[in-house]
Amino acid sequence: MSKYVERVIEDVKTKYANEPEFCQTVEEVLSSLGPVVDAHPEYEKVALLERMVIPERVIEFRVPWEDDNGNIHVNTGYRVQFNGAIGPYKGGLRFAPSVNLSIMKFLGFEQTFKDSLTTLPIGGAKGGSDFDPNGKSDREVMRFCQAFMTELYRHIGPDVDVPAGDLGVGGREIGYLFGQYRKLRGAYENGVLTGKARSFGGSLIRPEATGFGAVYYLESVMKHEHDTLEGKTVAVAGFGNVAWGVVQKLSELGAKPVTLSGPDGYIYDPDGIDREKLDYIMELKNLYRGRIREYAEKYGCKYVAGARPWGEKADIALPSATQNEINGDQARQLVANGVMAVSEGANMPSTPEAIRVFQEAKILYAPGKAANAGGVSVSGLEMSQNSERLSWTSEEVDARLHAIMENIHQNCVKYGTEADGYVNYVKGANIAGFMKVAKAMMAQGIV
Ligand code: GLU
Repeated sequence: MSKYVERVIEDVKTKYANEPEFCQTVEEVLSSLGPVVDAHPEYEKVALLERMVIPERVIEFRVPWEDDNGNIHVNTGYRVQFNGAIGPYKGGLRFAPSVNLSIMKFLGFEQTFKDSLTTLPIGGAKGGSDFDPNGKSDREVMRFCQAFMTELYRHIGPDVDVPAGDLGVGGREIGYLFGQYRKLRGAYENGVLTGKARSFGGSLIRPEATGFGAVYYLESVMKHEHDTLEGKTVAVAGFGNVAWGVVQKLSELGAKPVTLSGPDGYIYDPDGIDREKLDYIMELKNLYRGRIREYAEKYGCKYVAGARPWGEKADIALPSATQNEINGDQARQLVANGVMAVSEGANMPSTPEAIRVFQEAKILYAPGKAANAGGVSVSGLEMSQNSERLSWTSEEVDARLHAIMENIHQNCVKYGTEADGYVNYVKGANIAGFMKVAKAMMAQGIV
């Protein structure tokens, strides 16, 4: 590995030893970059990598709010504006009890390269809070969102930083956040947030975009192998917004999704999860915020509590829940079961050991920053529509999303194909994402 890259990784691991997820992603990205960094000695002279691993700005703030019983709670809010070289900061907000600075920085760093891959002019950011929306009333969620935005609004704007959703932040939360932003700003700047409802500037296909995009990416991967998705069984993890889009698009393209998972466990439905079952899942999650176990009860299929679906036999795995949900042993189990491809709907769902297992077994492995870039891509298209004050048809948005995902795939193949023809998608995505950010930073001087 390049000495320069090695030094920066070591420095990050020493300085941020208490931020394990952040160190994990920095090591994963930088260790792919050796050859390009060595080919550009000018990068080291201007401390390019040292600058790239420090966010341009971290905003950490207090979010006090009152519950329905009049009790006061205080959460921590974050916005990590990681890299703004190629456009306004862009990335989601995550509301989950596990949120901390390490998770925010890992997601913001990943987002920088993901956003670069989309070919759209957007920089990288992430934010959120350790607030847990589960079990909260609508009013409590509204008051929390208002308190959160009361601080955040001064740091964002349509040309400054454009947040969206992530885990725990969907259409309802974006609505409350926008209402408060509009009130505080005193102007109608609906390009400040994406993932909005249709009635105030949201884009068609945005809710399904991450899942659709992940399947379009997978389709390109299969096509490159002279294969198709037709008839393939797919193990999907998660049952939120990403998983819904994934399941819908897989079925449309003739594949058979057979598993889904929630925090409580997973279901295995060998008959496949069709449109009707998908509608039920959406109702389950949206209306009752229920658990996946209820699916097994309704359709009489297998439910395994407290586990992930990676022991079930499937041709393809599509982890679409959260980070580090496939470890080394589970990866070995997937390989032993004959899985041919793993495509990540979630951010960093595979541990470094799991990635090594897939790559050593020459499994097609598509990392999240490429495979799940469809969500932020349609967010970028929502920004374009807001700037134009027009809205596009679902066909137009979908066609653009499809083209973006194919383009990302092509770029990954360009930078990731190894001597024996195996496409190292990790290397491809990291180098392709990095090159655009690096060029912009070099051109903009030492800032
Ligand atoms: N949270 C999503 C992601 O991880 C979407 C971000 C956005 O739309 O800005 O890419």
